[in-house]
Amino acid sequence: MSLQKRAVFFDRDGTLIEDKLYLNDPHQIVYLPGVFESLRRLRDGGFHFVVVTNQSGVPRGLVDVGNLRQIHELIRGEFASQGIDILSFHDAPFMTDSNHYFRKPNPGMVLEGARFYNIDLKSSWIVGDRMSDVEAGHRAGTRAVLLGSLESPLGSEFAPPEAHVQTLPEVADFILRHTERAD
Ligand SMILES: [Mg+2]
Repeated sequence: MSLQKRAVFFDRDGTLIEDKLYLNDPHQIVYLPGVFESLRRLRDGGFHFVVVTNQSGVPRGLVDVGNLRQIHELIRGEFASQGIDILSFHDAPFMTDSNHYFRKPNPGMVLEGARFYNIDLKSSWIVGDRMSDVEAGHRAGTRAVLLGSLESPLGSEFAPPEAHVQTLPEVADFILRHTERAD
């Protein structure tokens, strides 16, 4: 009986698009396989979408803030043209060792998005290719899926996700199978 939304919080690099290591050129956005189909299926399952991305390239001087905004507008537009609405993009332009509240594994970006869009964290998920993504979701109160082969839950300092899968279609499969229908 809640008017709260449920959402999937997505990491950006290595999760929705290829990780170019400090992407600064809007022409170098490359979408990962199955991304549009997977988000449409999650959309049809009642999920909204928020992107949460650490951007230490900004304080390093490798990523221009104007380019970062343009990259996010291009990504937003591409998803919109595929029928997928992304509620918002949150970026944390802080150094790796800053331990800033907004930098994953801290939960600031997730909590900010949840508060602004009235998202129920318990019925929401975070998806990312690093255990720091998983941990940011856990600290905020979401469920979590780790994507890809970059990192493993084994030996991590952080608690494991509910699933570790290799592709975005598998992410959608798992979340939809482990979510009760809203209606
Ligand atoms: Mg990533």
